[in-house]
Amino acid sequence: MRRRFSIRAKLTLGSLLPLFVAFVFCGLTGLYLINTKIASQAQEKVRTDLNAAREVYQNELSHVNELVDLTAGNPFAAAAVETGDRRSLAALLSSLQSRKHLDILTVVDRNGRVLYRAHNPAASGDVIASNGFVRSALQGIPINGTTTLTHNELAAERKELAKQAAINVVPTPRSRQGQADVERSGMVLAAAAPVLDASGRPIGALYGAILLNNNNTLVDRIKQIVYEGVQFNGKDVGTATIFLGDTRIATNVPAAGGTRAIGTRLSAEVYNRVIQEGKKWVDRAFVVNDWYITAYEPIHDSRGEAVGALYVGMLEKPYAALKKKVNVIFGIVILASSLLGIAVSGGIGAHLSRPIRDLEKLARRVAVGERDLRIEVKTADEMEDLADEFNEMTGALARHEEEINSLNRTLEQKVRERTAELEEKNLLLLQTQAELVRAEKLADLGIMAAGVAHEINTPLTIIRGNAEVLEMFITPGHPNREEIDIISRQTERMAKIVSNLLLFARQKKLHQGRVAIHALLNDIVSQIGFQATLADIRIVRNYSPDLDTISGDSDQLRQVFTNLILNAVQAMEGSGTLTLATRILPDEAGYSIEVADTGSGIGPDQREKIFTPFFTTKATGSGLGLSVSYGIIKDHGGDISVESSPETGTTFRVVLPGKTADIPPHPNGTA
Ligand code: ADP
Repeated sequence: MRRRFSIRAKLTLGSLLPLFVAFVFCGLTGLYLINTKIASQAQEKVRTDLNAAREVYQNELSHVNELVDLTAGNPFAAAAVETGDRRSLAALLSSLQSRKHLDILTVVDRNGRVLYRAHNPAASGDVIASNGFVRSALQGIPINGTTTLTHNELAAERKELAKQAAINVVPTPRSRQGQADVERSGMVLAAAAPVLDASGRPIGALYGAILLNNNNTLVDRIKQIVYEGVQFNGKDVGTATIFLGDTRIATNVPAAGGTRAIGTRLSAEVYNRVIQEGKKWVDRAFVVNDWYITAYEPIHDSRGEAVGALYVGMLEKPYAALKKKVNVIFGIVILASSLLGIAVSGGIGAHLSRPIRDLEKLARRVAVGERDLRIEVKTADEMEDLADEFNEMTGALARHEEEINSLNRTLEQKVRERTAELEEKNLLLLQTQAELVRAEKLADLGIMAAGVAHEINTPLTIIRGNAEVLEMFITPGHPNREEIDIISRQTERMAKIVSNLLLFARQKKLHQGRVAIHALLNDIVSQIGFQATLADIRIVRNYSPDLDTISGDSDQLRQVFTNLILNAVQAMEGSGTLTLATRILPDEAGYSIEVADTGSGIGPDQREKIFTPFFTTKATGSGLGLSVSYGIIKDHGGDISVESSPETGTTFRVVLPGKTADIPPHPNGTA
């Protein structure tokens, strides 16, 4: 399965990646710049420190020079040298000594013979004209500078001085090989000035010097002035050293045990550059047992030869710690910025991808069936266009679905209508079929009934004739008269049945004419009174005023309505309402004549049978009334139907064909 990444994640990544690359690039550049800047700044500081150290060194030399110069120029000095007065010289030089301690302070006459040594008054009379400084002064030229003195020269001045100068050389890694184990020469800051007579001619010279071997006053002063005693982890940060050749003769660089590293030596490469080539060394260097940021420069003697070196240096550790601290701070800043960047990018990503998520949710809802959903996006970009298109799409979908639904509904409606029509037609077909069957049955019955009636009619006529004859001979009151009357009534009844049978068989032809239907109905009601009592029966006539005559066989229609009215009156058993109603049916569908009663009603099981011949529920009924009526109405091209319930009674409706145009205008406008 392919891995999925959300748009939000991609947007965040997309905006973070360039940011990250920029951060890494800026970070590395920043770190490089900071590191190199710190290193170069430190190096630059040490370079200027060396200048300051040189100033201190030169100051010291100037001081020596000044004292020697001033003392040599003193007129008492000239007089004392002139006369060789050692006591005066001693007084003069001791006052000088009290102002500044010099390791060598010697007065010579014009031949270079020592008149007085301030530190060694006992030793005098020797000639030191070989000393370059003394020689120059005796020639009238004052001189000062750094120079070296041999062991013997030092010992000649004072034994302690030679002893102070002697330094045991400590084997040092990376230093030059093949050097003496003990350095016996001494490096001095020296000055010599001529002592002049009144005419300005040199009559002697004053020679003074400070021995630098094992004399740490100067290097400590340099350290104090330049580095002001700054410490790191309990260790002095700044250091200064004076080298004679490549040997440390005065220093405050600590050795392993914490003592001064006097006797240790320069590395060969620094020696070559500074002492051999006479150039500066400004770089980091491993000094004794630690890394320092250093600066060295050669110390030249009065002849211009590099006899030693002046060094200042700072421990590298504080700068390394500073670098580390700056790097850590820088790293934290970058990390914090990155986290902030992630948070901001994440926020922006979430904000930008929200409409996409909303669209996705909406699309899911559309997929499960919701319609006409809308989304509001106001980002003024492609997302807004997409949302508008989506809204357009869901709207169109809803419209199309509604159209389809409406078509479906129409289709269903049509199917229902067609089905109903079909059912109606089917019902009609069934009814027609049933009617056909009934008609056929009735036709057969009719044929049979007609045959029977004909056969019975002849003997019946004979019986009736003979009964009438008997009635004539057997007068009322005769004992057999009652039987004769019974024969007569029964034959009468039989004749009626035969007549009904003949009617049923429709032997009679239709004599079409105009029938005043309302008058006919009224006449039947008045005639009925002879057969049944109407005393408690209310008769209601709802005749249509527009209906006057209808076309049909007057006698046969009388037969029909007589049957219906008589049945109605009988069903009410003496009391109720008989309603007679006529109506012109709309659309020239003919006329309807209704006979309604409030009688006992017809049960559902009987409703099917009442038009069947010989069906009767009455003791003396023939069961032919309705079947005969049915036949007559059918002959007229009409229809007869019934509605009945035990509560409301029964209504028979006869529908006969006929057009309004058939109806001639009634003279009174009423029936
Ligand atoms: P008959 O009247 O001789 O019985 P018909 O054919 O006239 O024969 O009627 C058949 C049967 O229909 C009746 O016996 C009666 O049960 C029923 N019938 C006819 N008309 C009504 C009516 N108005 N109310 C109740 N029943 C009726």
